Amino acid sequence: MNIIKNLESALVKHGAEHTASTLGDRTKYIGMSDIAKGAECLRSAVAGKLGVKGKNNCLNKQLILQRGHWFEGGLVEALRGNSQPFFEQLEIAVNVDGVPIKGHLDMVFLSADEIHVVEVKSMEVIPNEIYQSYKMQLYAQLGFLEKYFNEPCFSLQDSHVEILHQSLTLSEIVEQTFNMKLSSNPSIKGSILAVSMTEAKSFDGFEPDANRTLQAELIAKEIWQNSQELLNGHKTLNDVEYCLKFYPLCDWCEVQNNCPKFTAVKLANDNFDSFINDLKQMKIDKKKLAELIKIKENNLIKFYQNNNLINDWLETVNYRFKVSDINGRNTINIKELCKEIKLIIGESQVETLIQKHTKQGNPYSRLQISKL
Ligand code: SF4
Repeated sequence: MNIIKNLESALVKHGAEHTASTLGDRTKYIGMSDIAKGAECLRSAVAGKLGVKGKNNCLNKQLILQRGHWFEGGLVEALRGNSQPFFEQLEIAVNVDGVPIKGHLDMVFLSADEIHVVEVKSMEVIPNEIYQSYKMQLYAQLGFLEKYFNEPCFSLQDSHVEILHQSLTLSEIVEQTFNMKLSSNPSIKGSILAVSMTEAKSFDGFEPDANRTLQAELIAKEIWQNSQELLNGHKTLNDVEYCLKFYPLCDWCEVQNNCPKFTAVKLANDNFDSFINDLKQMKIDKKKLAELIKIKENNLIKFYQNNNLINDWLETVNYRFKVSDINGRNTINIKELCKEIKLIIGESQVETLIQKHTKQGNPYSRLQISKL
């Protein structure tokens, strides 16, 4: 038995079944994650909508793709222990000019005066700035929730995919689920909760924004229209607009292999293949080495600290070492600072000052390598 092959096919099957049971037939509506994808690359969103499958069936990619559901399940279970009521996977289904749009909101925390939507993202390394597409996904959720607050377009399933409530207003579904009355105009807030194996960070401060809601609607319409044109044979996937700039998720794209963005000249000389292989291996080795160095340094620090030494040197045959406490680095929150200065001297003055003191670095060459 080849356990890896077994696991690989089981994960692919499980992923497809999980999506079908929780999200239904995704070809029949535009989801919030489609809108998020479409904000970056229309071609990839349309391909995803039509269920075009490519190269994400290898074990590593499946593990990364599915760990989000596992994380989320664990978080939900833990959060149930708290007393604050929340929905998991609250569905909002609307129709905008003939385009069916559905959102499945990861978590919606409730109090009488506040609705707080939390989108959970699992990632290997938590970035300092959250990705634009994730922001778009949350803005779409917040925007639709606000716009259709009083419409009967909210539904809820339990963990066994049994329908608990269907086509109610948000106030009705809250009342029937938690026996709680929402105020007529509660504040709507949103956060993106980024979780990795070792840390969690909440990107807060999102609120519904009419321009973003409109943008989300336009993207949904574009995806829907292009999908219909493809289905009717009026277009091919390669006629659909694609993202020209650098986009990190191209490496994860199901339809990367025949994407016009990567039209390439085949090299006659195969030597570059092993050259690139070596380069990739060196980068993996470098990462492992960096991790080992960190572990060794931490061991030395712990050893020093456990001996209750303060500023004393320790000596070996060839070296001496000590551990000192250093103040954290000062950083300026440019965004918040600008917000405050704008209130004092006005927006245009701030823009002029920013332009005056912005320097562009020298151009440089960036090497991009991706696996075929
Ligand atoms: S490979 Fe990149 S540019 Fe091409 S469709 Fe996929 S995400 Fe878009």
